[in-house]
Amino acid sequence: MQNYLTPNFSFAPMIPERGAGSRVWDGEGREYIDLAGGIAVNALGHCHPALVEALTEQAQKLWHISNIYTTKAAQDLAQKLVAHTFADKVFFCNSGAEANEAALKLARKYARDHYGESKNEIVACINGFHGRTLFTVSVGGQPKYSRDFAPLPPAITHIPYNDAAALEAAVDSQTCAVIIEPVQGESGVLPADKVFLETARRVCDTHGALLVFDEVQTGMGRTGKLFAYEHYGIVPDILSSAKALGSGFPIGAMLTTDKVAPSFGPGTHGSTFGGNPLACAVAGRAFDIIQSPETLAHVCRQGEKLQAALRVLGEETGVFRQVRGMGLLVGCVLAEQYAGRAAEIVQHALAHGLMILVAGGDVVRMAPSLLLNDEDLDAALQRLRAALKSWLEQV
Ligand SMILES: *Cc1c(COP(=O)(O)O)cnc(C)c1O
Repeated sequence: MQNYLTPNFSFAPMIPERGAGSRVWDGEGREYIDLAGGIAVNALGHCHPALVEALTEQAQKLWHISNIYTTKAAQDLAQKLVAHTFADKVFFCNSGAEANEAALKLARKYARDHYGESKNEIVACINGFHGRTLFTVSVGGQPKYSRDFAPLPPAITHIPYNDAAALEAAVDSQTCAVIIEPVQGESGVLPADKVFLETARRVCDTHGALLVFDEVQTGMGRTGKLFAYEHYGIVPDILSSAKALGSGFPIGAMLTTDKVAPSFGPGTHGSTFGGNPLACAVAGRAFDIIQSPETLAHVCRQGEKLQAALRVLGEETGVFRQVRGMGLLVGCVLAEQYAGRAAEIVQHALAHGLMILVAGGDVVRMAPSLLLNDEDLDAALQRLRAALKSWLEQV
């Protein structure tokens, strides 16, 4: 097929046409098991009937109205987020990058309002990922995504992830925010150590900086809690959500407290589509399903089952040296002799009817539907075993 899109994406060699639950079909009728979940987005699988119903109901009422008005759909979703998190107020946008952009702008503005304009330094992590806008690639700790777009916004410091001493040394009275992913997703599915997040909370409190958790990938049930910070018992001042929030419909959100929110006074920030009633109606229905104790318990159970089976497969084939993650966000770290070859395995899996992801060059990542059932899980593992065996024959 002729490609009319800019060449920044390398598309897979099949074209998905239809999905249901954890299965996808291409134009030729070939069937795939989806453990990629649209990169941790399709939290309830494809075309969940309750979401189709919420979308079509709202589509017959009101699609878009702008932020000159608020809507019941937006207020209902915000109320749910507030009721089930540390937050008191919510800003809606359309993506993870925009949620982080809002978080970082709010942190700068809050520091300026309360301490003056020299308190503007942002501390972030090497190998962090926060999105693709200029500000978020600059705060992200992967120069390959930012250096070609210089000059970059200043006053951003990067420290090694999980290095509590480096974090403590980097934060001072000029720091306005520390931003951390509770599990580094894109760069390798690496969970934070508890002491690292504890240190972040403590040094932020000492120096009047805001703690921002980027839960774009880890949030909305992915780790077996509604948000991953609950596993650690460490509460941020600002949290960003997107990906699974709309379970396939684009929406992002920035959550914060009554202490911080007033710095986003009238006219300070905005978004044309943010809070769009279609997005909020779908996300509101998804929220009810994801947040239920049954779903969260299912994520824990299936996450353990998947991780245990991948460990067995890793030992049997010698391809994985470690399986790590939380809930249904799983990373398989390649054995040293296969370093840098995760993308080859993903391609091989696709040819065997299985959709999976990379997380950097050395990690195969899975972020399936939170409703993944045993039948699909077992069939996916069979396909992965076959894919690994055939890949090993030719490496
Ligand atoms: C995917 C991701 C983003 C960016 O989200 P977009 O919707 O692509 O802008 C930001 N942070 C984390 C942790 C992510 O995984």
